[in-house]
Amino acid sequence: MESAGRFDRVVRAAVEQDVLGPGQPVAGFLDVPGLLGSVRDLFAAFEQVPVLHTFAAKAAALVPVLRLLADAGMGCEVASPGEYAQAAAAGFDPGRIVFDSPAKTRAELAHALSLGSAVNADNFAELDRIDALLATTPSASALGLRINPQVGAGSIGAMSTASRDSKFGVPLRDPGVRERVLAAFAARPWLTRLHVHVGSQGCPLELMAEGVRVVYDLAEEINRAAGRQQVTGIDIGGGLPVNFSSDKTTPTFAEYAALLRERVPGLFDGRYTLVTEFGRALIAKHGFTAALVEYVKDAGGRRIAVTHAGAQVATRTVFMPESWPLRIQAFGPDGTRKQGPVIVQDVAGPCCFAGDMLARGRELPELVPGDLVVLPDTGAYYFSTPWSYNSLPRPAVHGFTATTGTPRFTLIRKEQSMAEIVAESGGEHRDALVSLAAPDLARLERA
Ligand SMILES: *Cc1c(COP(=O)(O)O)cnc(C)c1O
Repeated sequence: MESAGRFDRVVRAAVEQDVLGPGQPVAGFLDVPGLLGSVRDLFAAFEQVPVLHTFAAKAAALVPVLRLLADAGMGCEVASPGEYAQAAAAGFDPGRIVFDSPAKTRAELAHALSLGSAVNADNFAELDRIDALLATTPSASALGLRINPQVGAGSIGAMSTASRDSKFGVPLRDPGVRERVLAAFAARPWLTRLHVHVGSQGCPLELMAEGVRVVYDLAEEINRAAGRQQVTGIDIGGGLPVNFSSDKTTPTFAEYAALLRERVPGLFDGRYTLVTEFGRALIAKHGFTAALVEYVKDAGGRRIAVTHAGAQVATRTVFMPESWPLRIQAFGPDGTRKQGPVIVQDVAGPCCFAGDMLARGRELPELVPGDLVVLPDTGAYYFSTPWSYNSLPRPAVHGFTATTGTPRFTLIRKEQSMAEIVAESGGEHRDALVSLAAPDLARLERA
């Protein structure tokens, strides 16, 4: 399986159809039927309960992708005005949008409430803001409170949202906080949801399930105290980890749902509507990034292949290589997989800082200029989340279908043009500083 990778036919076709090669030296590719297959797996895993599955927009904030997922029956989880606008442009019904964020402004809250999107408040002060807004304008939004169950961190600190001192949610185990949560619900009959997102890549399933159990128990306690079912929805977040070391999908949505059924059976008895917010696990394995090898050099006894994929498309991998290693596969200029003896090589990106390395000391068939490197599993948070260092353009992203016959491609996002880069970097304000500094410039000239 490994030697004949999933994407071989697609890489070949991309070169033949000229969407990849010397003129297009870096691009992202998304397997559309593959993504829909994961949506189907997610739906199947939770099929016996009332549930709204939302896609965490930040994992692939591309309007055509969001549009596809809306058509596939998903909702959308957004965490900024930009993501909200993308979700709206994609055509999500506002009632199927869930607005999370630790820093919602009053204006953002008012907007979401006026459209009837669900909002998960991050903290008590945000509840006060919602109180004030509801006092003047009624809203159809489902409203919840994000809980930090403080069940502990996973293996990647920056990805762990349920540590004792995480910045997210209400820290349930801090002194007095449980009582404050109960009082907050007692005072606000419109609070009907609890939200928990234990964390992303690096968190074991047991830890995630424990976080959901803590929040389920809290929902039961709130409802007992209210003498009615005040909490009707539990948003269990996303965070299913992804296997970046082979083509195998593990763990699966079915395994996670089975563990939840075992640990929190009451969640599945139909009294609660579930909301999920998966991102990475839905789409990571359905995307790859491909980049041209521009030069090959030797330095200090190391072989280095300089490619067009670096920190601008694989930011986390470059800055945290231990936490975010990616596989790298070697292809020839014609898009066929390279065979032959392997040598130890470094694979570098195009950015002008020394740490811009995709990998060090990898064993790969010897790369030469004109070859291609393929980075599997980059469908989430990689090519869809570029970084504008060195003013490198955002790469093109192509969707493809390759289930039968010749793979077919369609453009999801075009490569950023030089004119767009100039415009984005203040091009229209070119003379702003020389005008402001005219007297100072004049003094410089006299000196
Ligand atoms: C990022 C995030 C998600 C999605 O996480 P994945 O690891 O991509 O599944 C879901 N909910 C919230 C609140 C998030 O911040």
